[in-house]
Amino acid sequence: MKEFRYIDGVVTIALDAKTCVGCGLCVQVCPHQVFVVQKGKALFADRDACIECGACVKNCPVNALSVTPGVGCASLMIKRWLHEKGIPVRFGGTGCC
Ligand code: SF4
Ligand code: SF4
Repeated sequence: MKEFRYIDGVVTIALDAKTCVGCGLCVQVCPHQVFVVQKGKALFADRDACIECGACVKNCPVNALSVTPGVGCASLMIKRWLHEKGIPVRFGGTGCC
């Protein structure tokens, strides 16, 4: 999955460093190693690697993260990846890509 990236500079993931309590859950759940925690705060390690899956947003206990998913692009990439692996998936119209 690591090979899937959006075009640099277009992802919408946002981090409110003042609100972050440094729990590290975003580091644990992110499939693309977007974050690191240093000195008790999350930082972007590779912001452009974000695929806007929303896992970090759902798990952050203090709502320090936000993202506006790219209308199914991540979903489409995941479905393509599963299809290439021979795992049966149904392709639906995502309206993007
Ligand atoms: S939205 Fe998904 S890929 Fe992007 S930073 Fe959060 S967990 Fe990582
Ligand atoms: S999950 Fe939220 S509070 Fe925890 S380190 Fe990440 S941004 Fe900070």
